[in-house]
Amino acid sequence: MGKKPKQLWKLYEYDYEKGTIKLKNKRCPRCGSIMAFHKHPRPRWMCGGCAYTDYVS
Ligand SMILES: [Zn+2]
Repeated sequence: MGKKPKQLWKLYEYDYEKGTIKLKNKRCPRCGSIMAFHKHPRPRWMCGGCAYTDYVS
């Protein structure tokens, strides 16, 4: 399974190796950049623009 089924993931991109989800409609409250979900080491949303981090409780 080397390929990513991008056509099935229109609203978000999933990185299997990193366990990261980029949701296209989840935006940073600070700078408006698209945020990515990281599973490790702790579940959190992180902004790629300003490094704003929102931990999932
Ligand atoms: Zn940001």
